[in-house]
Amino acid sequence: MVAAMDISVTKAERSKLQDLNLDNLPFGRYFSDHMLEADYENGEWKNIEIKPYQPLLLSPSLAALHYGQAIFEGIKAYKDKEGNAFIFRPRDNYRRFNISAERMEMPSVPEYLFIEGMRRLVELDKNWIPSREDHSLYIRPFMFSSDELIGVRPSDNYKFMIILSPTGPYYAAPMRIYVEEKYVRAAPGGVGYAKAAGNYGAAMLATAEAKRKGYDQVLWTDAFEHKYVQEIGTMNVFFIIGNTAITPDLEQGTILDGVTRQSAITLLKEMGLTVEERPLNIDDIMDAYKAGLLHEVFGTGTAATISLIRELRYKDFVMKFDVDKWKTAPVLKTWLNDIRERRREDKYGWMWKV
Ligand SMILES: *Cc1c(COP(=O)(O)O)cnc(C)c1O
Repeated sequence: MVAAMDISVTKAERSKLQDLNLDNLPFGRYFSDHMLEADYENGEWKNIEIKPYQPLLLSPSLAALHYGQAIFEGIKAYKDKEGNAFIFRPRDNYRRFNISAERMEMPSVPEYLFIEGMRRLVELDKNWIPSREDHSLYIRPFMFSSDELIGVRPSDNYKFMIILSPTGPYYAAPMRIYVEEKYVRAAPGGVGYAKAAGNYGAAMLATAEAKRKGYDQVLWTDAFEHKYVQEIGTMNVFFIIGNTAITPDLEQGTILDGVTRQSAITLLKEMGLTVEERPLNIDDIMDAYKAGLLHEVFGTGTAATISLIRELRYKDFVMKFDVDKWKTAPVLKTWLNDIRERRREDKYGWMWKV
């Protein structure tokens, strides 16, 4: 008799790794040899399996495809010089995953399934962690409703999975950002704080329009006045004004509580800056720019870590920055990467050994 929480492992016969060059990988295109899959049925998690990466067989009536009960996470694993594997702050992502699940009326995932499942999967595919600087193994846990029934209601069945993708630097070049005033990403009472799949589909039109105007991403603003800045794509945003780093607060539930954001707050304080989490108005940002006090603007997120922003456009007002002269974001990026790649002391216990 197999206990419900046992993880069964079926190994791939042949590794696909030998067919792949791990240098300069595009983000999210290649997947490792194995994946984790588990089913939620009759109120419990079962059939926990690590098995060769393979397609799923799904019914066209699969609930997730119609009504979007689907959430995900993004986490990174690194390897040190001795070849030990580490995962960056996986418990923070675990907590956030269940916050997203609750908002989407989905079952919570037990810590054992999420953390131990991830640990075993990463251990098995450890050779897929690239050792080159700025490269890592991106871990994508996700869950979706799997009832085969097209009635609008929460499912009885769900699938939880983890897949792994070796990855190189994400948005390598400093970005040009368009301040969005027409479309809305999140409003109070909505799902902005959840890593829910639909949030990203809903953002694509605005991002595509910004790209057609020559920008990389949009900076979202609040739903009522289009004045208070929120976040950028899949990144939280920081503004360095004078000696203070300001990032929008999480009070209204319209912004994702980023693990990189939290890490950046900790390290910026260590660097001697004052950090404020508070509402920030685009007019105040422009005033600071005009007064020569807006020194740096950057995004934080697992995929990109720290992304420098070289241009910010609001209506016809263009704010340009000479990122080569910046003193904070590049140092923050180096510190964070040095902690992840184990060249700098991990004072806060962020690296979790596999
Ligand atoms: C994932 C994500 C972030 C960044 O969160 P991290 O935990 O730092 O990766 C920020 N905003 C949105 C909308 C996201 O989806």
